[in-house]
Amino acid sequence: MEKICNYINGCLVAPKSGEYIKNISPVDGVHYSLIPNSTEDDVDSAVEAAKKAFVNWGSSSKKVRFNWLMKLADAIDDCSEELIIAESYDNGKPEWLARKVDIPRCSENFRFFATAMLHHKTSAFDMDGEALNYTLNPPIGVAGCISPWNLPLYLLTWKIAPAIAVGNTVVAKPSEITPYTAYLFSKICQKINFPKGVINIIHGYGDTAGDAVVRKCDIISFTGGTKTGRVVAASAAKSFKKCSLELGGKNPSIVFKDCDFEKTIKTVLRSAFTNQGQVCLCGSRIFVEKDIYDKFIRSFVEKAKELKVGDPKIKHNDLGAIVSEAHLKNIIEHVDNALKKGAKIVCGGKRLKLTGKLCGGFYMSPTVLLNTKNSDPINQEEVFGPVVTIISFNNERELVELSNQTKYGLSASIFTNDVSKAHRLAAKIDSGLIWINSWLLRDLRIPFGGMKSSGIGREGGNESLNFFTETKNICVKIENKD
Ligand code: NAD
Repeated sequence: MEKICNYINGCLVAPKSGEYIKNISPVDGVHYSLIPNSTEDDVDSAVEAAKKAFVNWGSSSKKVRFNWLMKLADAIDDCSEELIIAESYDNGKPEWLARKVDIPRCSENFRFFATAMLHHKTSAFDMDGEALNYTLNPPIGVAGCISPWNLPLYLLTWKIAPAIAVGNTVVAKPSEITPYTAYLFSKICQKINFPKGVINIIHGYGDTAGDAVVRKCDIISFTGGTKTGRVVAASAAKSFKKCSLELGGKNPSIVFKDCDFEKTIKTVLRSAFTNQGQVCLCGSRIFVEKDIYDKFIRSFVEKAKELKVGDPKIKHNDLGAIVSEAHLKNIIEHVDNALKKGAKIVCGGKRLKLTGKLCGGFYMSPTVLLNTKNSDPINQEEVFGPVVTIISFNNERELVELSNQTKYGLSASIFTNDVSKAHRLAAKIDSGLIWINSWLLRDLRIPFGGMKSSGIGREGGNESLNFFTETKNICVKIENKD
């Protein structure tokens, strides 16, 4: 059985405890590799290596860091096919999705921040000739980067890239549910002789290895669930560590009768079920204006029933497997509880048993629920699976109330051809990210993140570069000669 290794100071090493966790593929339920069950001791070694590496990397020139990040991006591209296959098998997502989105974004993250860092500006403030203030943005030290399982290498590199671009060194902790591509990534770093200790990767559980990363590193970038975010924030607060939190969502897709109907159906469907509904930005509460409610349901349900769930290797399958058996059970429990509260299933709702080699895999059909209230748990708790509800609304005021009646505030999509209405509502909806007539249209420069319980801080472009640096103001008094 293959043993995944930690990556510390440029070496692939076993966990000090010698203990491992089972890694099961959701595609077929097969236990196919072993994950280091790392402890604080392993994290200590990684932090020590990162601290040592910071001495040179933190004071290296932009050109040196640019060249290394670009080299890493090229090396990722060289291994892209291996990464695509591995990401799909480890996570359950369709290979076409890993090929189109996940893996290209990993190298793009490095290229984007390698170049963005070259243009990162400092500021100057002139005090009418009496003094000149200017700012410097030095790196902070060792950055702890903790990521979830839904976009495994994509989100891990989204944190590592800006952190090292501005001169920090990193201890990264991928999700214990999807560790495999982070392991392949360590091998890529090793293959190109990436400077030792600049990137370190520790595998293991969140409450042991993850907790130690939060306590031992100088700055924390965390993406994951809201409940975990609360624990991470409390730990980081003890030493006033800078902490960025990208957390859960319960995002509305808002459909007005004046929308471009066919295009809207297509986009809302994609927003509901991409990656088996396991994208933090997925629209799981669909609000439809009363006049087109029945027409929308007919068309949406018809299209949802046509979606194919199955072998992630097969190109025409729209959905692959749910990430784990435990998560699948969790999703089904949410649906069952909604039914007890009076919801009606018009599509899916159950585990799907595939045959042959995939009979042990964890699959579920796209699920659409009607007859729910916005205040029901199904509309208030993050399900993070292929499950949506459709609710009607009468007017803009009611719609704003429904959209904002949740503790989350990550993203929203509004579908209308009335430009003023779109702007009016975008200003009123409590979400960090709002799309008009689209979903998941991403520009890496924009401030990305959520309001309320969906997080603190923003990632992307200058937001990431500012987060991973300190701001130091230097005030120089200018003596007057006369
Ligand atoms: P999770 O919170 O269970 O785990 C995320 C990471 O945190 C994992 O690496 C885990 O090992 C680690 N962890 C767990 N406990 C920890 C602790 N006490 N200290 C330090 N680290 C700890 O989340 P998940 O189930 O892996 O991912 C799904 C969640 O992530 C969903 O809520 C989803 O909305 C969210 N998410 C948010 C974004 C965003 O950008 N806002 C993006 C993707 C996913």
